[in-house]
Amino acid sequence: MFNKIVIANRGEIALRILRACRELGIKTVAVYSEADRTQQHILLADESVCIGPPAADRSYLNAPALISVAEVTDAEAIHPGYGFLAENADFAEQVEKSGFVFIGPPPDVIRLMGDKLAALQEVQRLGLKCVPGPRTPLPASDASACRRIAHEVGYPVLIKAAMGGGGRGIRVVRGEAHLLNAISLAQVEARTIFGDETLYLEKYLEDPRHVEVQVLADAYGEAIHLGSRDCSIQRRHQKLVEEAPAPGIPSKEMENLYRGCMKVCKGIGLHSASTLEFLYEQGQFYFIEMNTRLQVEHPVTEMITGIDLVKEQIRIAAGAALGYRQTGVQMRGHAIECRINAEDPQDFRPSPGVIRRYHPPGGPGVRLDTHIYGGYEVPPHYDSLIGKLIVHAENRKYALARLANALAEIHIEGIATNLPLHADLASDAAFTAGGVGICYLERYLERRLPGGGGSSS
Ligand code: ADP
Repeated sequence: MFNKIVIANRGEIALRILRACRELGIKTVAVYSEADRTQQHILLADESVCIGPPAADRSYLNAPALISVAEVTDAEAIHPGYGFLAENADFAEQVEKSGFVFIGPPPDVIRLMGDKLAALQEVQRLGLKCVPGPRTPLPASDASACRRIAHEVGYPVLIKAAMGGGGRGIRVVRGEAHLLNAISLAQVEARTIFGDETLYLEKYLEDPRHVEVQVLADAYGEAIHLGSRDCSIQRRHQKLVEEAPAPGIPSKEMENLYRGCMKVCKGIGLHSASTLEFLYEQGQFYFIEMNTRLQVEHPVTEMITGIDLVKEQIRIAAGAALGYRQTGVQMRGHAIECRINAEDPQDFRPSPGVIRRYHPPGGPGVRLDTHIYGGYEVPPHYDSLIGKLIVHAENRKYALARLANALAEIHIEGIATNLPLHADLASDAAFTAGGVGICYLERYLERRLPGGGGSSS
């Protein structure tokens, strides 16, 4: 096992990783930007190093600085968390070339899955079904070829950036009149955000569910799945509420999907934790992408399986075999997670600032993964996630009741948060019935606008 690990992240996930390290008896090195000196995990870490100014590209994305931290502190491994460099194959490679262990999948697997087109081709070869579309780069400069491809796929279509992520670089096109304009806008966006303008086109599914499968694999060719999650509650293709297991899907359909996922994990030589994401419509699962990292929503899986995903990632990276066999994975009850964002619940504008008062919820089956505390200042430089409220109960009905209680108990004052939206959703009839599609939240928000049914910007 490792003696010391660098936690190359911030916020709630840095604290989450630190806790796992401590349980495993591993020393920790926290890194932080100048804007993050007051983070909770810095106080708890064995060592901490300031790695640069607030801008992420000069701190949390500064690969040489992070590797230097491992060198000077004599650490053996780097945990990237999620976001930042977690799915950067070059970083993973540099870490390994410098003699450290990257806690995540092998760099070639990260690279393969980071190129969404290559990923689609590979998983299809390994037997999974993808959303209809040609799975080849869109010849953006050839207008008539683009029109032909879109026509063959059939409107509405979706234009996506091959190197995209985080729900960005996705455009719906409902008819030929808008196609070329959307392509050129998507190209500019892809170049600016992802540094690569390769696009592809696929069928836009009108209101599917987002269902994903958590997997764990070791370096000896063993892989297991830890069940499903439903992440259909999204705004602008970004998840807001997640639950495990995905409600109401026949177990035969799920078992078929799990078998397909295991084939992919073994076929690509995965090790560590990853997630295969699907859209689910009329009994069919369509693969959309694979995330080769810990997901924000991993706690719901931990709650229903009792398996600590971060500890498993670390054990696997240290060369251990999987600690569980598939038959030993028992799913119990239902878990729901709400992402708490420092943002205005009406217009979703970020709301950084000082948290004046903070009261966490409690009771059985309530978990709060957060780095905030009374007096903590949420900096304006990073994404607005300030915590995750997770509840677990013996079934979905009681998990929803527990969620409503916890949302009534939690208090964060001084900044605006999306907690009021979560409280409204927790008592919404369609959400509580289960199984809503990915467009549900946007429509719900439109209905909430003054006058009801206005357009959402
Ligand atoms: P990212 O890597 O940016 O998260 P994904 O491919 O995972 O992109 O898609 C993010 C979300 O966009 C999905 O959860 C879903 O809501 C929506 N989406 C993606 N592909 C389609 C599609 N073909 N039809 C409808 N919605 C889609």
